[in-house]
Amino acid sequence: MPHRSHPTFDVAVVGGGIIGLAVAWRAQQRGLSTLLLERDAQVAQRATHAAAGMLAPVSEAHVAERELLALGLASAARYPDFVAELEQATPLPAGFLRCGTLAVARDRDEAEALDRERVARAEMGLALERLLPSEARRREPGLAPTLRLALEAPDDHAVDPRTLAAALADAFQRAGGVLRTGAAVANLTSSADKVTGVELEDRDQLLAEHVVVAAGAWTPRLGGIPDAARVPVRPVKGQILRLRDPAGPGLITRVLRMDPGYLVPRGDGRYVLGATMEDRGFETDVTAGGVFELLRDATELVPGISELVLEELEAGLRPGTPDNAPALGRGALDGLHWAAGHFRNGILLAPVTADLLLASLTGEPLGELAAPFAPDRFTETDTTKEIAA
Ligand SMILES: Cc1cc2nc3c(=O)[nH]c(=O)nc-3n(C[C@H](O)[C@H](O)[C@H](O)COP(=O)(O)OP(=O)(O)OC[C@H]3O[C@@H](n4cnc5c(N)ncnc54)[C@H](O)[C@@H]3O)c2cc1C
Repeated sequence: MPHRSHPTFDVAVVGGGIIGLAVAWRAQQRGLSTLLLERDAQVAQRATHAAAGMLAPVSEAHVAERELLALGLASAARYPDFVAELEQATPLPAGFLRCGTLAVARDRDEAEALDRERVARAEMGLALERLLPSEARRREPGLAPTLRLALEAPDDHAVDPRTLAAALADAFQRAGGVLRTGAAVANLTSSADKVTGVELEDRDQLLAEHVVVAAGAWTPRLGGIPDAARVPVRPVKGQILRLRDPAGPGLITRVLRMDPGYLVPRGDGRYVLGATMEDRGFETDVTAGGVFELLRDATELVPGISELVLEELEAGLRPGTPDNAPALGRGALDGLHWAAGHFRNGILLAPVTADLLLASLTGEPLGELAAPFAPDRFTETDTTKEIAA
């Protein structure tokens, strides 16, 4: 039985990672009474806690993923305003760092691959500046002399996801949103194909007109959603290290992307070095091999890394869908909305996800940008797919 003393919210958001927080803040800020439910004792302790925070649509663009690139560029373009608006709404910093990105090659093969990427991106209208080693080292003296080539993406910046999440949680509550931590949702509840709210693991039932699923890699564990209405999400493990320079900032000032990892400066002498990509279910062990590979590759490019203090080792679970792109918008049940499956780009995609979900919640059209990310794309019949192919 529902506890009648509970109010009915306009929106209940399941999951307090970066996606749930951004959606909940936007919804509450725009006048929808919003309840955010997070099963952990604090928000943003999962993928968001592990994430490096690169906002890198240009340097990460896959030629084959043009629609995702368009979404990433749209979100990156929103970031400065999103952060400025957030910092008006809370005294906490948002953690945004305008630093740009250098993609770097260590040997001839990598340099050739990097040059091919530059040409492919130029065909997509994305400008990357080609830097010979001497110029790259002038801009980043911490790079090794063995560097072969670098490409600069001046507009690919970074944010500290933990700082951003704390700011979002504060802004959400200041706007009047209700945050419940330690609240694990067991089931969505519905009646006659219309969502009525959620049931917690402790059996408490909460009423809401709309439910947004933002449960990251744990999305498939939510009950109460018919099989045909589900979005398939799998966990993809990433190991990542946090380092600190006792000498302060300056070793590296831009994000460095190498094959396969990256080094992200926080601007204050702290660095994030990531990340592995592993299909290991929900296992989150940090392994000697994973740490070794990350450090080996990075110290080859930035020898000064070996002097840094190793502060933290962590593994997080990226929420991946079969096409590695998120599910955004209305689901198959009336009142069900998806904001799940952001895989490697959830920090980058948080602002655009928040805006698209607000449109979804208020019944407005999501527009062309969102069309490729419709949640029902996974429930097409095989026949439809064959015809489409
Ligand atoms: C190592 C690593 C590096 C990354 N680097 C970047 C990067 O540089 N840039 C970038 O854009 N992205 C990056 N990502 C990806 C990014 O972290 C994710 O796409 C993003 O965090 C997904 O956010 P989320 O809110 O969907 O998931 P999460 O952050 O995992 O949050 C989901 C939340 O839902 C809660 N939850 C789950 N089930 C329930 C339930 N039943 N009831 C209540 N709460 C529930 C969980 O406890 C969790 O807090 C990285 C990821 C990893 C692992």
